[in-house]
Amino acid sequence: MSEQTPLTPLDLPEGDPFGPHNLPYGVFSLPEDAVEARRVGVRLGSYVLDAGAAATALGSPYVSLLARPTLNPLMAAGRTAWSDVRRALTAWVTVPAHRETVRPLLHPLADVTLHLPFEVADYVDFYASENHARNLGRMFRPDEEPLKPNWKHLPVGYHGRAGTVVVSGTDVVRPSGQRKPPADPAPVFGPSVRLDIETELGFVVGTPSAQGTPVPLSAYRDHVFGLCLLNDWSARDIQSWETVPLGPHLGKSFATSVSAWITPLDALDEARVTPPERTYPLLPYLDDSAPSADGIADEPGGYDLQITVTLNGHVISETSSASLYWTAAQMLAHMTVAGASLRTGDLYGSGTISGASENSRGSLIEITWNGRDPIELPDGKRTFLENGDVVTMTAWAPGPNNTRVGLGEVTGRIVAGAAA
Ligand code: MN
Repeated sequence: MSEQTPLTPLDLPEGDPFGPHNLPYGVFSLPEDAVEARRVGVRLGSYVLDAGAAATALGSPYVSLLARPTLNPLMAAGRTAWSDVRRALTAWVTVPAHRETVRPLLHPLADVTLHLPFEVADYVDFYASENHARNLGRMFRPDEEPLKPNWKHLPVGYHGRAGTVVVSGTDVVRPSGQRKPPADPAPVFGPSVRLDIETELGFVVGTPSAQGTPVPLSAYRDHVFGLCLLNDWSARDIQSWETVPLGPHLGKSFATSVSAWITPLDALDEARVTPPERTYPLLPYLDDSAPSADGIADEPGGYDLQITVTLNGHVISETSSASLYWTAAQMLAHMTVAGASLRTGDLYGSGTISGASENSRGSLIEITWNGRDPIELPDGKRTFLENGDVVTMTAWAPGPNNTRVGLGEVTGRIVAGAAA
């Protein structure tokens, strides 16, 4: 093998979705550490590279960004640094001269503990899937037009609870709260009996912005560091009683799960797709139909991610984010247009991703049509989640040269709350 031939590190199988074309970021610790030491890691196949240790061993200028316990310093460093660090990491895992240095710094994923990879600042959740919004409208407002009049003019969203965002693998405690079945005269308190999932993409902000200065569509890639899968666990019974007229509150604030791996936007260039045709002209700050004046925002705004959802190992949904009506750039522009600043670690979700077909719906309330059509599992029927149920979302995107870019899974198990 000549010096110029890139090695496949640790002999990754050809086409591994976590090959050197991907390199998502996470945070891990090793069980043998006497005191838990969190480290920035980069996933390679079924291994994680200790990125800070590699930077140190190779005399890299990026030690200060990588030898850290969270991704926040790297996220805050900005787009040029993100590209430079990614280029360096690609070289560390592909250039033969680095192989002997890097190899001992790769740890099998099975041997490490993965942590929430960044400190979450604010959390906003949108409602960007037209199929999802229409399904919910048809279910709950059958006598009205399913979409509210604002829906195609702005990306509808609400502010969620940043402090209860948890990493994939964290158990989800069944929430208790008030619910009022329509036929009952008064609300009751107790564990939710309509616990649901929401299959979403999460977008992670790196570069902050100044309060009072909106972030235009063209600056999306200057601010957003990467994306991940997100499960917005939702207690439908708590939600439906509390939500009028101000929107979701406790029915969604008990837990939101994100992948342990944040996929850099630079790994997803091949996954960009044109979003669905717009029904109405958009106001200028959201209008992505014309070439931008500065030519920066001309890449397609959508992402074609193929997402699979399993419940106790059985596929219950296969969907694609290509159908989202609103793009990540539009959500960001809308979130800041009134003057809100961005902070490093801000997280925003796409809203439940549902396709047009019945097997591509992203929540149980849609899959079972509000409980009317239970799904059959080997261990019994389901309308909503039972204690012990495990929900796992996986996804891949088209990568360069017909490869696939794998996204980190997001999984969680439902456990009973303290006796109420
Ligand atoms: Mn949601």
